[in-house]
Amino acid sequence: MTTTINHFDAIIIGTGQAGPPLASRFASACRSVAIIERGKFGGTCVNTGCTPTKTMVASAYAIHLARRGAEYGFATGDVHVDIKKVKARKDAVAERSSRGVEAWLRGMPSCTVIQGHARFQSPNTVVVNDEILQADKIYINVGARASIPEMPGIHDVPFLTNSSIMDIDFLPKHLVIVGGSYVGLEFAQIYRRLGSEVTIVEMGPRLIGREDEDISQAVREILEAEGIQIRLNAKCISLEQHDDGVAVGLTCEEGPPEVLGSHVLLAVGRTPNTSDLGLDLAGVSADKRGYIIVDDQLQTNVPGIWALGDCNGRGAFTHTSYNDYEIVADNLFNADRRRVSDRIQAYALYIDPPLGRCGMTDAEIRKSGRRTLIAKLPMSQVSRAYEKGETKGFMKVCVDAETKQILGAAILGVGGDEVIHVLLDVMYAKAAYTVIERAMHIHPTVAEYLPGILGKLEPLV
Ligand SMILES: Cc1cc2nc3c(=O)[nH]c(=O)nc-3n(C[C@H](O)[C@H](O)[C@H](O)COP(=O)(O)OP(=O)(O)OC[C@H]3O[C@@H](n4cnc5c(N)ncnc54)[C@H](O)[C@@H]3O)c2cc1C
Repeated sequence: MTTTINHFDAIIIGTGQAGPPLASRFASACRSVAIIERGKFGGTCVNTGCTPTKTMVASAYAIHLARRGAEYGFATGDVHVDIKKVKARKDAVAERSSRGVEAWLRGMPSCTVIQGHARFQSPNTVVVNDEILQADKIYINVGARASIPEMPGIHDVPFLTNSSIMDIDFLPKHLVIVGGSYVGLEFAQIYRRLGSEVTIVEMGPRLIGREDEDISQAVREILEAEGIQIRLNAKCISLEQHDDGVAVGLTCEEGPPEVLGSHVLLAVGRTPNTSDLGLDLAGVSADKRGYIIVDDQLQTNVPGIWALGDCNGRGAFTHTSYNDYEIVADNLFNADRRRVSDRIQAYALYIDPPLGRCGMTDAEIRKSGRRTLIAKLPMSQVSRAYEKGETKGFMKVCVDAETKQILGAAILGVGGDEVIHVLLDVMYAKAAYTVIERAMHIHPTVAEYLPGILGKLEPLV
């Protein structure tokens, strides 16, 4: 029996944040492209990440504000949460996005959409559903999934991840979240506001350990003020079945202390989807954790194979994956030699109030040894925040004392996820911070305070 080999100009594995726009670029250039998806179209962001969580953040925020109605001059009576409707809204938004990605791909001329699990057979062939595809250019966009750590009891108890929690249409009585970083904190506030008791169990000495201590502390206070329990320094986490759910052990010593929860959510990091991809048959190198090793233009060690998005370990966000697409596409189609190292770190943590971050942390700046100036302002002094009744958090900006360029900034406060772009764009322009000081900003906004803060810079000690 002879097996047919289907030839394409390019093969893309995965329909995350980089694959579909790249397919579109190939199709627009009248090149043949095959794109393969084994799960839901749109990948993590659309189905189990950004879109559904931010939809739930919106429900949780509305519920939270309704509970504060008296402060704003209205009464709602007891706020009753219909979790099935919260889920239905979330599902509708996510499904709309996923269907949109699928329809977009299927509508592209010269793009072949294949559903199934793709695996390399050689450096230029991929097998999917017994079909062999061949191309000189192959792009891997397989993303990552929730890590399941080998902790004692993990195989004996049920647990949730960011994917499986999307399917539940009931409110956990007491949700214990293992992991006090970005994903864990968002779910913690969502479920607390929906009505669950919530405990965060974190191994490290503080929440979001990659952030500066003042940010970790302020975030902790925001969450605790809403009744979220936080257990830090949980050195030896274990899970055990008990009558009403799961007991989460916190120390290596005998017996309690432990937290008894009705449900456990694991939010302890991500694992790239690369172990079942046949990377060895293609000769593609990955690091110890499974991240595909790429150069500054996202090419792997095998010419003709690129890795984009979370699976290359160079970013863990939708915008970093999309930026990977832009880098690859511009190098390929526009001869514009863009590099990963050109991009400036930027992201948001979508608790309420949100944290917008760009550039270096204070700790990274100190380590760099630069002479640095810093300015900080509590949100309670921002009139827009005061007017809205949302005064938690602060903003801070660090600048290089010599070049006057912005080195890093954090805005933990109402609108922080949007306002941070004022600073980010000035960083990309490589302009001095004094540009912002001379700009006329709109009143009343959070951003209008940036010129004022920059006028109060002091040495970072
Ligand atoms: C709870 C949560 C909230 C998040 N919130 C945000 C946020 O607010 N903002 C933000 O920027 N980022 C957020 N992220 C991160 C963001 O979702 C990811 O960084 C982003 O989705 C990465 O996209 P990607 O392109 O790498 O691949 P993915 O979106 O993960 O897609 C990979 C696709 O490849 C498919 N695939 C895998 N292996 C194969 C194979 N062998 N054959 C065929 N198909 C395969 C998968 O099924 C999947 O559809 C969040 C993540 C989580 C978990």
